[in-house]
Amino acid sequence: MGRDPKHDVLFEPLRIGPKTLRNRFYQVPHCVGFGSEKPLHQARFRAMKAQGGWAAVCTEYCAISPDSDETPFISARLWDDDDARALAVTCELAHEHGALAGCELHHSGVHSPRRQYRLPALAPSQLASDYLLVVPKTMERSDIRRVQADWAAAARRAREAGFDIVYVYGAHSYLPMQFLSPFYNHRTDEYGGPFENRARFWLETLELVRDAVGADCAIATRIAVDALGPYGVELDEGLAFVRAADHLVDLWDVNVGSALEWSKDSGASSLFPEGWQLEWTGRVREATAKPIVGVGRLTSPDRMAEIVASGVWNVIGAARPSIADPFLPRKIEEGRYDEIRECIGCNVCIPKSDPGGNVGCTQNATAGEEYRRGWHPERFERAANADRDVLVVGAGPAGMECAIVLAKRGLRRVHLADAEAEIGGIMRWVPRLPGRGEWARVLNWRSIQLGKLRNVELLTGLRLDARGVREYGAEIVVCATGARWAGDGLNRVTHRPIPGADASLPHVLTPEQIMVEGKRPPGRRVVVYDGEGYFVAPGLAEKLAADGYAVQLVTCLEEISPFSHETLEQKLLVRRMHRAGIGLRTGILLTAVGPGGAVGTDELGDPVELDADAVVLVTQRLSNEALYLELRADPAALAAEGIEAVYRIGDCVAPQLIADCIFDGHRLAREIDAADPATPLPFLRERPLATATGM
Ligand code: ADP
Ligand code: SF4
Repeated sequence: MGRDPKHDVLFEPLRIGPKTLRNRFYQVPHCVGFGSEKPLHQARFRAMKAQGGWAAVCTEYCAISPDSDETPFISARLWDDDDARALAVTCELAHEHGALAGCELHHSGVHSPRRQYRLPALAPSQLASDYLLVVPKTMERSDIRRVQADWAAAARRAREAGFDIVYVYGAHSYLPMQFLSPFYNHRTDEYGGPFENRARFWLETLELVRDAVGADCAIATRIAVDALGPYGVELDEGLAFVRAADHLVDLWDVNVGSALEWSKDSGASSLFPEGWQLEWTGRVREATAKPIVGVGRLTSPDRMAEIVASGVWNVIGAARPSIADPFLPRKIEEGRYDEIRECIGCNVCIPKSDPGGNVGCTQNATAGEEYRRGWHPERFERAANADRDVLVVGAGPAGMECAIVLAKRGLRRVHLADAEAEIGGIMRWVPRLPGRGEWARVLNWRSIQLGKLRNVELLTGLRLDARGVREYGAEIVVCATGARWAGDGLNRVTHRPIPGADASLPHVLTPEQIMVEGKRPPGRRVVVYDGEGYFVAPGLAEKLAADGYAVQLVTCLEEISPFSHETLEQKLLVRRMHRAGIGLRTGILLTAVGPGGAVGTDELGDPVELDADAVVLVTQRLSNEALYLELRADPAALAAEGIEAVYRIGDCVAPQLIADCIFDGHRLAREIDAADPATPLPFLRERPLATATGM
């Protein structure tokens, strides 16, 4: 089946300044944890997207000078020619695959943590950073000139490295936006006060960069046209800037939000629908006829085609959708719609990348593994032991992923068994939590791929015990039996159960009992007790509140759902729960649970009594490892049935993020023919080699 002609508009080339985009798919700058320090990781990661059909691939923000040192966060850098040499590999590989390479030159101004540089941060005015412990130096005119000269020098280096698109990046309230925004700029000279003055720094910098490289490179600028809060400008000034700078810019890269409110730009699906930014960025066309690229977690080809055809934007930008599926453009081009691995908007890629990590993705286990493990998202080598049958027990995220990769590696038969009537494991119920509907894509994509693989046999409604596994007839066994919530309140603070907590009683419940077994809390008042700190407890609290219960979300942690900070959800999630009437209590350690509620202590050690008809325990999960341990305990019985190996993956090893379960399943399948598949093969590392000079 070819592509739908209505998507043809996405494959029309587009001129941006002196360069041409081959189609309308553009990987906007985004962090990965590689910077200029891991040039081969960086190059192979971006090149995979170039190969997957993106017309342009960009670096993450790329610091022009040491006073914009982002450490401990990892940014690309073009401080000197060595940095340029490091990034040249990215350009080379992007070009090999027909894509343009973009470099997001940036200076963070007041938002620069400078853990390496140590000297003061620079900013338009001496106003403390709204999210770091930094009070900057007010830039003197000489600082302004020097930073602008650094920008032009970095642009020349970018050109020498081979970049086609060079940015003057201001979005996310970095230095150019700090000059433009009255929130950061209290100057009274020609760089402060009226709009024309506040715009001066950005305009002059654009001019210098254009003079330096404009004949050879397309000039892009990234602007949050509305900060949706105080940390930038509102739409009227955003559009005024687009008008003022339009003659200097070849490509407008537009978004919303700010550094502190990045959650509104990289919006999680629990809070923002696909394309939400269009309400603001869709207005930029009023101010320019130049090419515009915008973002909004877009994965629907129909929606993308509508946007481009309407002329609102000319180019579809993507960070997360390009991580989840580097081959998204090629799949649309070839009409392979059912192979598109859609981003679920979980934002787990952010804590995987920052600070100083290695990008990872729930949907795409190969993201970040292109160089160090040599994994290609669409290519699978035939396994040396492909003549074997494999039995995967448990069809949750780990089991499904493992089965798919084993099948693609050509294993003779892959038998995927699950005790339940439907495959999916926890993905059968997680998407039913409020705001988690898009997460169903984890199951949907895998279910479709499993259905297409001829060497996969799905066996639902089959609960296997050790004997059943041994007698099944497969040579290799993979246990992917998942995990369960502790029913006795075992938790990270005391490492003990909570007296009186017993989920076999009517007034004590676990998440699975509610979501899978249909157990209902008695009475009306419910305490949801969270020791985990992520999405399950808030999800249950919202669900029970929507069902009419009076809910208190109580946590032994210092904050409600601290991990959600890392996925940019915490603040808005807490506000939403508050608006839904959910009581929120932090730092409460429960010491006993009973039919009338629970007692405990607060942060100061004072006693607390919580009146409730039921307590939901979201304290910690435990691996379902009994089957695996029983199988491993009797090697003779395995040998007697011709079983060569028994492995385990996912939550059955240790309860972990869905992303990590999928990664684990993928990893085992990629290495199923290694000498010892249970132990991951070493991965490549990039390290500067020590030279003992000047000692
Ligand atoms: P993970 O996140 O590690 O993939 P899940 O908890 O989502 O794990 O999924 C585990 C799956 O394993 C569930 O669907 C469960 O029904 C299934 N399962 C657990 N034990 C058995 C068993 N003995 N036989 C068959 N299926 C099992
Ligand atoms: Fe999308 Fe989640 Fe993957 Fe990030 S980790 S790209 S949000 S699926």
